[in-house]
Amino acid sequence: MNGAIRENLAEIYPVSLAQADSDIWDHFLETCAVNSGPEDLAGLLSLHAARYSLPGFLPDLARLEWALREVRSAKTLPALPSRIAVNPSLSLLRFSWKNLAGLLRLGADGAVPNPEEGEELVLLWRHVQTGEVHVRPASCEDLLALKLIVEQIDPGKTAAEAGLSIRSMEAAIDRAVRGGLLIRPPSSIRREFSSFTPGGEDAEALSASIFTLQWHITQACDLHCRHCYDRSDKVLLEPSKALAVLDDFYRFCRARNVRGQVSFTGGNPFLHPNFPDLYRSASERGASGFLSGEPGRFADAQRLDSRTGSFRSGPRIPRRAARPRHPLHGDAHSNRGEYGSGASSCRSSPDQNGSFYL
Ligand code: SF4
Repeated sequence: MNGAIRENLAEIYPVSLAQADSDIWDHFLETCAVNSGPEDLAGLLSLHAARYSLPGFLPDLARLEWALREVRSAKTLPALPSRIAVNPSLSLLRFSWKNLAGLLRLGADGAVPNPEEGEELVLLWRHVQTGEVHVRPASCEDLLALKLIVEQIDPGKTAAEAGLSIRSMEAAIDRAVRGGLLIRPPSSIRREFSSFTPGGEDAEALSASIFTLQWHITQACDLHCRHCYDRSDKVLLEPSKALAVLDDFYRFCRARNVRGQVSFTGGNPFLHPNFPDLYRSASERGASGFLSGEPGRFADAQRLDSRTGSFRSGPRIPRRAARPRHPLHGDAHSNRGEYGSGASSCRSSPDQNGSFYL
């Protein structure tokens, strides 16, 4: 190994070299690395590390540092794909030792566990937006998200076969996108009007990351507001057709790279005979939800949450409460105080992650 290449070693393998005294390294490199390049270090360590009493995890650690160098030296960030795709800078390495990623101390604070014998899969990638390089052990959720995208598996079909919810699979994909393992193309729901953005500074306002289905599921209502615009009888959608609507909605959002939301309204959505099933089915398809109804049913909403165990909820602010009292109709079923009580419920709600739905 010539001097120039030798100098590169300290730059490429700082953590590996720190695992043994320089005398040992000198001896090792002078006898084992003649005519070798920096890229050969992991292979040489696999063959000879034991003979020089070097730690058993060093071949894997050197392989990890070389892979890190490759990810860092990628010149350009990948362009956004036309469909959701794996970040092209991503590497998945299989090691015979655990806890090696922590030794690199990329953004790590505190104590790092010592390497232990045992298989571990490690991911390395460069985030498309930030350009930052990340290294960490792969979780089961990471591997699920990568498999779904690499093998172009339909989450809906797989979820049904595995007895899981689409929601859990979509959540795994969403987290992988946020972490940079996957790259999602931009929303295809967008305005194209150039006049909408004088000067072009409002580009973000041209596209929607969320698409909302406002679904009037029932005419049934237990109130009789003067301002009600429609109390006519309408036939309820059959349950199978209602599920088909949700399936269509799921496919629509997925094809356009947007998150789905379903706003259930009516009438009073709680008076729909299959409302819990609809609510749960929307949640299982990964949609977040809104309830648009009348006041006095927060307790119903919370019971519903405990049954489904999955639908994000916040206290509803009734539609009437979100606007000032109507000067003509306010007295019959008064809006008096509803805005205040709704806002007060929001403030006092114990755990809603800041998500309140009007
Ligand atoms: S609560 Fe809504 S649906 Fe019911 S009567 Fe009033 S306006 Fe009509």
